Amino acid sequence: MKNVFNINIIPDNDVERVKALDRYCIMNTPKEAAFDSIVELAKVIFRTPIAHLSFLNKEEEYIKASVGLGDMLRVDRGESVCAITILNSELTVIENAAEDPLFDNHPYVHGPFGLRFYAGAPLKTSDGYTIGTLCLVDTQPRTVSEHDKEILLALAKVAMEQTELRLANIQETEKQVAINDKLGASEQRLQSILDTMAEGVGIVNLEGQMVYANSMAQRILGLTESDIIERKFDDLKWQNLRVDGTPLPKDDHPMTVMLRTGLPVYDQEIAIQNDKGERTYISINAAPINDPVTGQLTGGIGTFMDVTNRRKLLQQKEEFISIASHELKTPVTSLKASLQMLERMKDDLTIDRLNKLVAQSNKSLMKLSGLIGDLLDANRISHGQWQIHKIRFTMGDFLADCCQHVRTAGKHNIIVNGDLDAEVYADQQQIDQVLVNLVNNAVKYAPESKDLVIQVEKLPADVKISVIDTGPGISPDKLPHLFERYYRADYSGLQFSGLGLGLYISKEIIQKHGGQIGVETELGKGSTFWFTLPLHQA
Ligand code: ADP
Repeated sequence: MKNVFNINIIPDNDVERVKALDRYCIMNTPKEAAFDSIVELAKVIFRTPIAHLSFLNKEEEYIKASVGLGDMLRVDRGESVCAITILNSELTVIENAAEDPLFDNHPYVHGPFGLRFYAGAPLKTSDGYTIGTLCLVDTQPRTVSEHDKEILLALAKVAMEQTELRLANIQETEKQVAINDKLGASEQRLQSILDTMAEGVGIVNLEGQMVYANSMAQRILGLTESDIIERKFDDLKWQNLRVDGTPLPKDDHPMTVMLRTGLPVYDQEIAIQNDKGERTYISINAAPINDPVTGQLTGGIGTFMDVTNRRKLLQQKEEFISIASHELKTPVTSLKASLQMLERMKDDLTIDRLNKLVAQSNKSLMKLSGLIGDLLDANRISHGQWQIHKIRFTMGDFLADCCQHVRTAGKHNIIVNGDLDAEVYADQQQIDQVLVNLVNNAVKYAPESKDLVIQVEKLPADVKISVIDTGPGISPDKLPHLFERYYRADYSGLQFSGLGLGLYISKEIIQKHGGQIGVETELGKGSTFWFTLPLHQA
């Protein structure tokens, strides 16, 4: 800054003054209509060729609005006539600058511009800092009446009020932007919570119309986002059922109950059946939504969880208990009958009769102990209390002793063939249990299969043992479930006894040995159940 005046034009409080100016964020900002109007008005009132409104920082005068100055925007503070008004901090009038020694070296006064008259009113902040000026300029000397001075000061006051308003507006906008940003961020957070929730969330209006469904709700209900607005919670597309499968009347639906009573409903389990007849069980919490001001009910929010697996497990357990009771009761009844017979006939029993009754009792007991053994094994497996004690043995030795009970019964021929020299390192007792399971199943489910073949095949790293029957085979839709716990391919008629545990236990034993188990089967032709064990490499 070069100073053309022969006095110090910087007021003592200039640092604070510039700080006050900075608060208004107005330096170097584009033209604004409110300020343009004020200078226009000043020009018209005072009939001067030039009027302008400026703000002065440490270095320069910035002309925010002007008439008669063309596109002039900045003046170095050292040459700025307004710097004198800033210094005086009051209305400053120079009637003829050419005669004022303060302007002796001033280029605007003694140069081509030919400035003569200047009147500048300060723009003062409420805390007393002069941050700018509203000025009138003429190239002719002029005088100013007291009345003119009052008007110019009043106009400067209006200009300052505009500056304050402008700042308040900026702050308000910034606040609004910050609030909007916060709202946006919080909305986004809420959205991502809703999107990643394992629970379905659905919002309905008073008519029960869906207005929102989160991703999980869409997944559970099989909805696309565009479907939502066309659907109701009691839509015909979803048949609402009670858990026992009977239709759930609309009035009993948890969402209807909540909308009717205005009270929340917790943990209600219902089933939804889609148009393909597929059933999904859900547990719903329904809560009312009330207008925060009037307290009036405006709709409701339903959160629900897919509990199909839980429900299926429960059903499976119930079915299992019913099957298990039946299965256990059969040998107990038969044992009871044999013992009653023994009791009744104890005085005149032939040795033949006695043997028969004892054999019958033993058979029932064996059956009972087999069932209980399976139950205990399954329990041990599910609790991880299953240990294996491996030894080395060849398949030939192992199979020679295997399945004596079937051989003794004489109904089936057990034909063993293949690589009998193959050696494995396994828990012989458990492998025997697997083989007996497979052979017993063949006996049970393929009674007409006279020959049951046990085939041993040496593979590069494993031994494959297959039990082959020529029975009825198994239909393909049952295959994926055969090795599941409690699965019985056809238990409805209870034609064959069993708990549905044999193949499950076998699979667990084989997998624990690092082997695989499977079946190849063809309806009407027979089944080959096989398992592999890692080959013992000598
Ligand atoms: P369980 O014999 O107690 O029912 P398993 O787990 O041993 O239980 O067998 C599961 C189901 O697999 C049986 O219910 C039966 O329907 C089917 N299955 C097993 N082995 C055979 C076979 N050799 N032929 C036909 N079906 C079989």
